[in-house]
Amino acid sequence: MSILAFIETWEGKFKKASFESAAYAAHVAKELNTEAIAVVINATDDPAALGAYGISKVYRVGDAGDFNNYVWANTIAAVAKETESTGVIISGTFGGKMIAPAVSIALEASLVTNISEKPSSTNPLTVRRSAFSSKGFVDYAVKSDRFILSLIPNGIGVPAPVDGTAEVTSFSPVMENAPEVKVHEVDRVRGKIPLPEAELVVSAGRGLKDASNWNIIEDLAESIGASTACSKPVSDMGWRPHSEHVGQTGIAINPNLYIAIGISGAIQHLAGVSASKKIVVINTDPEAPFFKAADYGIVGDAFEVVPKLTEAFKKFKAEN
Ligand SMILES: Cc1cc2nc3c(=O)[nH]c(=O)nc-3n(C[C@H](O)[C@H](O)[C@H](O)COP(=O)(O)OP(=O)(O)OC[C@H]3O[C@@H](n4cnc5c(N)ncnc54)[C@H](O)[C@@H]3O)c2cc1C
Repeated sequence: MSILAFIETWEGKFKKASFESAAYAAHVAKELNTEAIAVVINATDDPAALGAYGISKVYRVGDAGDFNNYVWANTIAAVAKETESTGVIISGTFGGKMIAPAVSIALEASLVTNISEKPSSTNPLTVRRSAFSSKGFVDYAVKSDRFILSLIPNGIGVPAPVDGTAEVTSFSPVMENAPEVKVHEVDRVRGKIPLPEAELVVSAGRGLKDASNWNIIEDLAESIGASTACSKPVSDMGWRPHSEHVGQTGIAINPNLYIAIGISGAIQHLAGVSASKKIVVINTDPEAPFFKAADYGIVGDAFEVVPKLTEAFKKFKAEN
């Protein structure tokens, strides 16, 4: 018996969300009095380093070709079977969302998605998932022999690494019977923290009036090391790339801090951002719906408030 974490990579490097999965697996394993192990596919990062997050053994899979969710899922399932893992932890990233249901079918295991908290009980294993676009929660008691837990990226956070090295062993990918998947193009935002992994996000909407005004948003984001996001109309109008669109039809994010500037706070926007741990809203209209979801609100003109905020952050950083 063990708990298996799937360690997702991008261009061979471990994704931040994978450390979260490793630490979550280690926590569940400890609660269940067993060990946490991991499987990693096509990694160039050193799998032994996962020992710092509580993993005792890593199954390293090489030569698996381009990403194919069936190959990935069948390989993870094969490792779980060989190691008699009772639980598999997978981050709910774009790739993880494609893999987890297939692993669940291959293992005849129950699947709980959108988890943002550690289990509240182990007998039976009880986990809380967020529901209705993060407006509610559901507590699930897992009663099947095997379970898959899919975590909201950046929901629980990555603990500080400790001393530890994992044992590494090779494992062959399961390529048979997988439908062919061809990746035609990968359009990757470079030089910025991907929005699902970002801890700080500065976002702006139609209140900014024009694409040429985004320098104040970028300056504010740069002053605190935040990623930038935007509302749907902003990306629809081509003021910002679609990769920045957050909300119900865009990316769902979960940062520690979300600063929303000139965004009304329509329900479809809130659906993707309301899981943010702290929300700051800057808007000229004191009746803007976003203020109801805000932890802190500034009623004011973005063109006056934002440069002052940037200046204050820069001053604070220089003095501390
Ligand atoms: C099916 C469907 C799916 C959708 N999905 C999404 C989605 O995923 N994400 C999303 O964002 N939207 C989505 N929408 C659109 C959503 O309903 C809203 O229309 C949109 O979020 C509004 O964008 P906004 O707040 O930028 O613009 P507006 O609603 O025009 O709001 C602009 C805000 O800026 C304020 N403002 C104006 N000037 C200033 C200033 N100088 N300083 C400060 N504040 C100022 C105004 O008071 C106002 O509150 C969806 C809609 C539908 C129907």
